[in-house]
Amino acid sequence: MKLFLVILLSLTSISTGFAQSGSDRVRSKIEFIKRNVDFGFRRFYQVKIIDTDEANAFSLGTLTLVSQKMLDILDDNELLAVIAHEMAHREKYHIFSRSGMIVGGAIAALLDWHSDIPYSERLSGFNEDYQLEQELQADCYAYNWLLQLKKKGFAFEPADLNRATTKIFGIDFGDVDPTYFEDNPAYIRFQKVKQGHSKSCEN
Ligand SMILES: [Zn+2]
Repeated sequence: MKLFLVILLSLTSISTGFAQSGSDRVRSKIEFIKRNVDFGFRRFYQVKIIDTDEANAFSLGTLTLVSQKMLDILDDNELLAVIAHEMAHREKYHIFSRSGMIVGGAIAALLDWHSDIPYSERLSGFNEDYQLEQELQADCYAYNWLLQLKKKGFAFEPADLNRATTKIFGIDFGDVDPTYFEDNPAYIRFQKVKQGHSKSCEN
């Protein structure tokens, strides 16, 4: 009985005391970036973890959504890179943006507020050039913030962005036939990170 109690108590302390919740893990990344990157970040950030089986992260204004799957597959470096990318969306007022592959059920519901447009049409709308432009801009900021961290001696680097992309998509875009991928937004973003973003992300 005593042993049972000890086990029970230690399990409780693991779940409440030591294990970091998903939203704490994301929040600590946001705080780390705010503390160590020279940029006039906004103060107010909200975090929500969505329980979907898709590796995805979204920026909806002040709210940053990260899927549980994303937390499961990314290591801390990759997650920080993704969070930096989402923070760039938030800082640049890109109202709805995502990093990941599929916009699934939970997010469809979020977008369902008052729209008569079929879901597939709305989804394709997000994949137009304008969306890619925002993604490249968010990558550009994240790239330069990671470069800053690296120069300050932290163990982060711009290539973390591509490592995250490789895990999220399950494809190494550095090792595919360009003929089949040259129009793929994720491929275009991957190559740009590989070549190096410029310091100016203003347009
Ligand atoms: Zn994005």
